[in-house]
Formats: sequence, structure tokens, C-alpha cells
Amino acid sequence: MSVHAMSPVLGQMMNKPMLISSIIEHADRYFGKNEIVSRRVEGDMHRYNYTQCHQRTKKLANALKKLQVQLGDRIATLAWNGYRHLEIYYAVSGSGAVLHTVNPRLHPEQISYIVNHAEDQYLFFDITFLPIIHAIAPLCPNVKAFVMMCDRDRMPTDGKIANLLCYEDLINDNNDDFVWPMFDENSASSLCYTSGTTGHPKGALYSHRSTILHSYASALPDGLNVSARDSILPVVPMFHVNAWGLPYSGPLTGAKLVFPGPHLDGKSLYELFEQEQVTFSAGVPTVWLGLLTYVGQNDLKFSSFKRTVIGGSACPPAMMKTLRHTYGVEVVHAWGMTEMSPLGTACTLLSRHNDLSEEEKEVILAKQGHVLYGVDMKIVDDAGKELPWDGKTYGNLLVKGPWIISSYFKGEGGNVLQDGWFPTGDVATIDVDGYMQITDRSKDVIKSGGEWIGTIDLENVAVSHPAVLQAACIGVFHPKWDERPLLLVVKKPGAELTKETLLEFFEGRVAKWWTPDDVVFIDALPMGATGKILKNKLREQFKDHRLPTA
Ligand code: ADP
Repeated sequence: MSVHAMSPVLGQMMNKPMLISSIIEHADRYFGKNEIVSRRVEGDMHRYNYTQCHQRTKKLANALKKLQVQLGDRIATLAWNGYRHLEIYYAVSGSGAVLHTVNPRLHPEQISYIVNHAEDQYLFFDITFLPIIHAIAPLCPNVKAFVMMCDRDRMPTDGKIANLLCYEDLINDNNDDFVWPMFDENSASSLCYTSGTTGHPKGALYSHRSTILHSYASALPDGLNVSARDSILPVVPMFHVNAWGLPYSGPLTGAKLVFPGPHLDGKSLYELFEQEQVTFSAGVPTVWLGLLTYVGQNDLKFSSFKRTVIGGSACPPAMMKTLRHTYGVEVVHAWGMTEMSPLGTACTLLSRHNDLSEEEKEVILAKQGHVLYGVDMKIVDDAGKELPWDGKTYGNLLVKGPWIISSYFKGEGGNVLQDGWFPTGDVATIDVDGYMQITDRSKDVIKSGGEWIGTIDLENVAVSHPAVLQAACIGVFHPKWDERPLLLVVKKPGAELTKETLLEFFEGRVAKWWTPDDVVFIDALPMGATGKILKNKLREQFKDHRLPTA
């Protein structure tokens, strides 16, 4: 009899659904005394432990029940990283509703579009965002109430927002006698919208199952490598793809959590790192810029900080070097996207790399890295033909796996998959060992005379110059070559640098024809809501720029 003709024998294991509530229950039961420390919006510090967090979360779940929140209802947050936000994460998803984290850095029109599109029933917000609520409340008539995350004595009394509730009242008016409901692990748990640099933002709707699998995988040693011995400070906001899963993988492993609230400047972060003996952090490259500038200017060192994950946009090798060599912090370069929960790859070495020189290791570690088990990837040409893994051939990067979207929320954009693979919009190479390196976003690549120029390489060279703080490269019109690179540079404060010196610096560092045709020094680069440089804004601003070579 062939194998196919046989009916499978079912395993005899418990079929317990993988639900998000089980993470906070686990953290309470097995790591109850481990701490969660928050610098509050109010300015002071708040400390409690996983048991106390679980108690308040259950009180909030009872409050949601009284507010008649139903399975699948969307509940929005506009909030910083803090203990109340964590309670909402677990109370909402644990109750079977859907946590919708909204990015407060978006324009009010975009926020109201997202809130209405998601059909949010309630919106929880930190007191700093009261002006946003004033702006959007009239535009979001279907929100039943706005919940201000504070004590009663901080609640406004001007009556400007009719349907306003107080968070601490919800907690105080309820007891913690609550049993987390059981339901299908494929139920929706949370919703994040992409930043919508092209067109309207689209929602990625995660499930309990996808979130738990992502949490397991991301905690692995070659992922974020988090454990019960860590003190984690997620600089990445809880409104940016669920702080890359740390509010789940932290409690899952029993790690201490340290939340910075709105205080993300170098000084506040450094003090928190030291005070709470932070061992591990995560964020986009731009946040490290502020912290490193502060630490450098004040000649400080870190006493406990061991490891950080940097992703969201390419981490310049120069920044990795500073963190590694000057501060002894291991940098793990990671790549992912909202549509991937977000983690896809992380870059760590293999044991056979042990004998390589420091420089050779750094070449590998600059890549975006290896997939985590669960994610599969390939590169293809424009006709969809798979391309070789030689570290040189670049193509469109496609991915698949159980924590990658199969379609956008409400079917926006129609069928987005190509033969079951999700097209990331990134252009990448993959080497023989499976290390992936992003060349560019396909919309940022510069097409010069039919050939492609990757902007990340050019920006990495520019920021390795000691006088350069930040750089962005865009393609601008060229009559002969269609497009040529224009480099926009922010100098370090007080630094001297001419265009000619910077262009000479490219000699021998990139192919000659990749060298930018022009450099413009500017005061600041336009930043998006998740701390990434807005290249579409730059392209618009410099669309009439005349290159000296044109
Ligand atoms: P959005 O697309 O909404 O701006 P995401 O945070 O989902 O927000 O962005 C995903 C994109 O960010 C990826 O497709 C990729 O282009 C870029 N990205 C993320 N991490 C890296 C990285 N380590 N290196 C280069 N690009 C990255």
C-alpha cells in the first residue's frame, strides 16, 4: 500500500489553542515577581511585576465585558510604551477582541481614516495625545468612547469630548475575577496598518496563532535572543508592528520589561538603561543616533547593555562598528515588515565563521541575515523566475510563512500573493549560506542607463565619513542616463565638509559609475512616522534639481 493511500494516525496530544492570554498567565504564574518598569507620561517612574500586571489586565478585561466589547471588535490605542499599554494589549486580545495600535505620529486625517476603516469601537489614549483626540473625535462618530489612560484627577473637566472615560476608573471599578475565554487560535488578535507612503495605509490582521508562533521564533538565540535573564528596553514603539513582538516575547520568556514612555531623547534613554540595568534593546537606526550622540558627547559608557537589534531600515555599518567597538554592544541586524509580524531575518554568525578576521565577520554581519524557522524566502526576476543564491545576483524578494499576511484587512489591494508568496517590495541578494542582503526598496532603486544602483550602499559609504551625520540618496532625472544618484547630506554639528571631499571619499569604495553625480547639504532629512527617511518627499523636493553632469 502506498503511503498516500493510508489514512494518517492522529497524534494523541492535547489540542490547546495557542492564545495570547496564555502568555500573561504564564508570566504571572512562573515569573510573577519579575518587574515591569515604566517611565510614565506623567513624568514619574512606575514599577510593578507580572502578577500585578495580570491582575490589572483581568480587571480591564472585566471592564471591556461591561462595555459590551464583542469577539472580533476592534479596540484602538494611541499610546507610548508603558505598563497601561501592555495591560490593554493583553486585555483586548485575551478577551477575543482585536488590538489596533495606531501610530500617533501620523497626521490626524490619516489617523481618522484608519480608525474609521478599522471600525474601532473604543480608543484608548495617553494624555499627551489629547489634542489628537480633539481633532479626530468629530471625524470618528462610530467610536463609542475615548478612554484616557490616567487617574481621575487628571481628567479634563471642560466637557470638550462628550464620550470620555477614565482608564483608572475602569480598573478601580472592576475586580480581577476573570477567566480568559477559549476560542479558535486562528481568530484575529491584533491589527497594524502599514505607514502608507504610497496610497492609503493597509491593515495587517494578525491571529493568536501567528502571534504566538512569531513570539516563539523571535525569542530564539539566532533571533532576538531574549531570556529570563534579560532586562529589555523596547525603544521601538508598541505602535510600530507591536514593538517587534517584544511585549509578547518578553513575558513569554519572563524577561524584565523597561518602558521609556515618551522620553526617547539620548539623555532619558541613557539614564533608564543604567538605572534599570538594561541588557537588551531594539529600535530603528535613527533612535541610536540620538543615544550615541549623547553618550559620545558626555564620554559615557554602558554598564549592562549587551545586545541590540537594529532594523526597520538598513543599519549603516559605521553605526554597528561604534556600538561594537566603542561600547561593546553586540548588534543584530534584522529585517522585516508590518506584513510579516514583523520579523523575517536576523544576522548572526555560524560556528564556522569563528576563524574569520574581524573585517570578514563585519561584512557578513552588515547583511540583513538568515530567516528564522517558519519563514521561507526567495529572489526572483521580473518574470517570476527564481534567481541563484550567489550573493551577487539581486532580485525581488518574496516570502512565505505562518506569520506573514495572506491578504490585507478587508481585502484591500485584492490578491497580493504571487503563487502563494508575498512580494516584499524589497530588492535583495542571497548568498550560498542563505544570508540575505537588501539592496534597496524597489521604488527607491536608481535606474541609470538600464542598470540598477542600490541607494543603501551609497548611503552607508556617506555615513562612514566622520563629518556626516545622516545621508539619503535618490535618483534624479538625467537626460542621458534617465536617472543618476543625488546625495543629500546632513553634516555633524560643527563639521567641515565640501562636496568635492565627500565625492573623493567614494573612490575605491563603490564602482566608479555608482558615485553620486552631486551632493547637496541640508539641515535635516524628512522623517516618517516610524523613524524612516521619507524618500518620496525628497524626490518631490529635488525633482527639478539640475545635476552638474546633465
Ligand atoms: P512601512 O512599510 O509601513 O514603512 P515597515 O516597518 O513594515 O513599515 O517597513 C518594512 C520595510 O522596511 C521593508 O520592506 C524594508 O524595505 C525596510 N526594512 C526593514 N528592515 C530593514 C533592514 N534591516 N534593512 C533595510 N531595509 C529594511
